[in-house]
Amino acid sequence: MYKRFDTIIIGAGIIGTSIARELSRYNGSILLLEKGRDVAVGATRANSGIVHGGYAAKWGTRKGELAAIGNRMYQQLSEELGFPYTRIGSYVLAFNDDEEMILNQLYENGLKNGVISLDICTKKEILVKEPLLNPLTTAGLYCGETGIVSPYEAAIAFAENSVQNGVVLKLNHEVLRIEKASESYRVFAGNQIFTGSVVINAAGLYTDRISEMVGLTDFRIRPRKGEYLLLKRGAAKGLNSVIFQTPTQKGKGILVSPTTWGNLLIGPNAEDTTDRADSENNYSALKSILEQAKLSMPSLTLSSLIRFFTGVRPASDKDDFIIEESALSGFIQAAGIESPGLTSAPAIAERVRNIMLAKGYVERKKNSFQKSRNPITKPGPLKPFLAVKDLVELPPGNPDRLVCRCEQVTEAIITDALNRGILIDSLDAVKRRTRAGMGACQGKFCGPRVKELIRWKNSLKDDEIEEPSAKNQELLKELRKL
Ligand SMILES: Cc1cc2nc3c(=O)[nH]c(=O)nc-3n(C[C@H](O)[C@H](O)[C@H](O)COP(=O)(O)OP(=O)(O)OC[C@H]3O[C@@H](n4cnc5c(N)ncnc54)[C@H](O)[C@@H]3O)c2cc1C
Repeated sequence: MYKRFDTIIIGAGIIGTSIARELSRYNGSILLLEKGRDVAVGATRANSGIVHGGYAAKWGTRKGELAAIGNRMYQQLSEELGFPYTRIGSYVLAFNDDEEMILNQLYENGLKNGVISLDICTKKEILVKEPLLNPLTTAGLYCGETGIVSPYEAAIAFAENSVQNGVVLKLNHEVLRIEKASESYRVFAGNQIFTGSVVINAAGLYTDRISEMVGLTDFRIRPRKGEYLLLKRGAAKGLNSVIFQTPTQKGKGILVSPTTWGNLLIGPNAEDTTDRADSENNYSALKSILEQAKLSMPSLTLSSLIRFFTGVRPASDKDDFIIEESALSGFIQAAGIESPGLTSAPAIAERVRNIMLAKGYVERKKNSFQKSRNPITKPGPLKPFLAVKDLVELPPGNPDRLVCRCEQVTEAIITDALNRGILIDSLDAVKRRTRAGMGACQGKFCGPRVKELIRWKNSLKDDEIEEPSAKNQELLKELRKL
């Protein structure tokens, strides 16, 4: 027995989920297949979280065009779907004449891409707005359109709203084989066979492997890893915008940025890898990231470091986004979506929708589409611990009980996250939705409490709930001395 859908989307990262949400405006059944146990577990989970202004990607490329369009869509989307996003602006710093020339090139390129609020600033202007920056800077490119977003919260919001609008999401469903039939595709995933008239390949780092399943070999993914340092909430105090250095051949260089929750993010480096699941971190690479970041902000230290992590960019040998119907009718690529893919995601979704409309794969909008989603309740600003201490001791079942001390997350918030139509069976899924486990102790205190709630509310057994793999505490201690 085959389960039939009009459209099957493979991969529930920011690209797959934003496409699913966009297509859920139209009549037709949609299946979203994801191999992970949650959405947004690939590149969407570990990146800089910057909604780029759109000045950096070369004019005339899809990246250049779609980043600027995607950027303009974020404000409305964050209001409709309730995910954290703020336009805080950015500077690209120059430290010599050659770098100033690059600023000018970025400025010209940005104008061609349609970016509006660009300005070349003097050192004095920069330091008035950002007194923590290196006084040796000579000039900077300001972009008022740059924003910060919580990337996985955005993808979770797209996914939840898609499900609300009838999309069937199947987690733990790795696509292992695809067969082309005369008018449709048979997709083998999770011991089931699904058929779809249209297949959309949004499998990130694995888009080339999915393509090979139907005999398409016209591009290869060239994974490139990037490592980060994350400092605790509050550490971004005094920094008001995203700080980049002038880009090199390898990418945008090391940035220093506040996150939407007030942490400070430092990174990423860029290193080609053959391992698409590479999550390794090492002392010398992370130390070098800090040293490079100090060029922007000399006072940086890692005393409030809470974690380090790695993301892998799904770059392709085409050096641009691949968004097209392939040589096979009904097989659509959304592949090679490296940076600025997060920024461009809503525009990529519209581009895919336009292909679908032009080909008649979707036609009429449905009246029942709900554009808004109730956001998951969020913890408020942190209070002094003594003011909330008693709430930690409340008994289980009390909605006011503080489950997570560091981020002050209540049982009510966790219950809300567990009751939203996507089965949650990992501590990480709760962490990314509620912030329980995001604080200084990284889940040591709240982990068992969160696990208990998942088990209780979702009727799961202990061994059905995934716990996070332990981070290298020795490395963390060593880094904190820097
Ligand atoms: C270090 C780094 C920094 C970045 N910084 C930024 C930034 O600041 N701003 C910006 O705009 N962009 C940034 N990006 C780029 C951005 O993160 C990506 O463009 C975007 O996340 C790609 O989304 P995706 O959905 O294509 O891929 P993914 O998020 O990887 O999603 C693909 C999904 O497909 C699933 N999948 C794979 N194979 C299968 C299968 N066989 N069956 C079922 N499911 C499958 C995976 O599990 C995954 O969940 C950065 C990327 C990295 C790595």
